[in-house]
Amino acid sequence: MDKIKMNKIVEMDGDEMTRIIWQTIKDELLSPFVELNTEYYDLGLPHRDETNDQVSIDAGEAIKKYHVGVKCATITPNAQRVEEYHLKEMWKSPNGTIRAILDGTVFRTPILVSGVKPAVRSWEQPITIARHAYGDVYKATEFRLTKPGKAELLFTAEDGEVKRATIYDFECGGVLQGMYNKDTSIESFARSCFNFAIETKQDLWFSTKDTISKQYDQTFKLIFEDIFNREYKAKFDALGITYFYTLIDDAVARVIRSKGGYIWACKNYDGDVMSDMVSTAFGSLAMMTSVLVSPDGNFEYEAAHGTVTRHYYRYLQGETTSTNPIATIFAWTGALKKRGELDGNAALVRFAETLEDASLAVIESGKMTKDLALMWQGDVKPETLTTDDFIAAIRKELEARI
Ligand code: NAP
Ligand code: MG
Repeated sequence: MDKIKMNKIVEMDGDEMTRIIWQTIKDELLSPFVELNTEYYDLGLPHRDETNDQVSIDAGEAIKKYHVGVKCATITPNAQRVEEYHLKEMWKSPNGTIRAILDGTVFRTPILVSGVKPAVRSWEQPITIARHAYGDVYKATEFRLTKPGKAELLFTAEDGEVKRATIYDFECGGVLQGMYNKDTSIESFARSCFNFAIETKQDLWFSTKDTISKQYDQTFKLIFEDIFNREYKAKFDALGITYFYTLIDDAVARVIRSKGGYIWACKNYDGDVMSDMVSTAFGSLAMMTSVLVSPDGNFEYEAAHGTVTRHYYRYLQGETTSTNPIATIFAWTGALKKRGELDGNAALVRFAETLEDASLAVIESGKMTKDLALMWQGDVKPETLTTDDFIAAIRKELEARI
């Protein structure tokens, strides 16, 4: 059989257990079937350190050039990692660096299998969370106040105009916070969400607290509404999908009663909290994919989980692990499908879909990694496999289907 040919995508290697799994997926599930054409960037921590993190920037720029990338989980260094890897500096998160270059929004979607039942009984289809990943409380300036005094909000425009308001006359100690967001960032958040809804043909929900936050949250609501009406309404109508705005508390109630099958766009903090709630309720972080979509059409796929450090330390001791490779496999299939769609490469799209189907069929047949076996409520008795045996079972199923 001839291998499937493809145009170039950006490949970003990573760290620890996921780096090991990355290579196995390529060797066992991709390279035998596809002439993998990638521009390789090693975002493993040692190489980021060697290049003074230039490699993360280069990878981000490369995604702009080729429009599709796939990324392995990477370590975000903290003090302990600086010591462990003898780093020159506490390098920033590569995800943050790449997000800043692409100006994108992150969409997280659970992968459903019949034997893992969502904690919310009504959920039948995935709920995708779109989290605005810029500003608000994550870029806030805060004071702890320990004595009485007057707190004011002051804005001095470039042209000299001054806006000033009293926040509170403190008669005692307290806390104070100033936060911001930018029209440009909210606009690209909106466009990324509308584009992703069109792309996946799903309804888009957006929620804020605009009744209470009459300038801040209201601005988010108005910018979304304006862009939707001017640029997207006709496309949504043509596809039969809807854009729906509601208050965050109403959204929470509706989400819990829903069947799923839509995208829920959230402000930065709401998205942080709600994505953990939704992913936990769907079952497992190991079954959650993540894609960064930029408003001008670049896509970066990855697993939502990290480098699974605890398993890696066991692997280094010579133990075999039962680490779930599904989200990493789906990061690859997501990128290959997108490459295929952009280029009209039907064979590549079909291959990626077949690999996804084969992976899920193996789980449904009762063969799975330990994390899934622990939650399994399916009819067949679960058999716990090591990562390598699980990937080998997927390979067999894939070959049978090709
Ligand atoms: P993690 O790697 O997601 O793992 C946390 C725990 O979740 C694991 O110890 C494991 O539980 C379970 N788990 C996660 N993925 C799994 C999988 N595929 N199969 C089976 N179990 C899985 O998060 P972390 O331990 O907080 O972070 C580890 C490193 O990853 C950190 O250095 C962090 O900076 C980095 N990180 C990177 C990204 C990214 O690149 N996008 C995201 C998050 C974290 P048990 O040990 O109980 O089996
Ligand atoms: Mg969180």
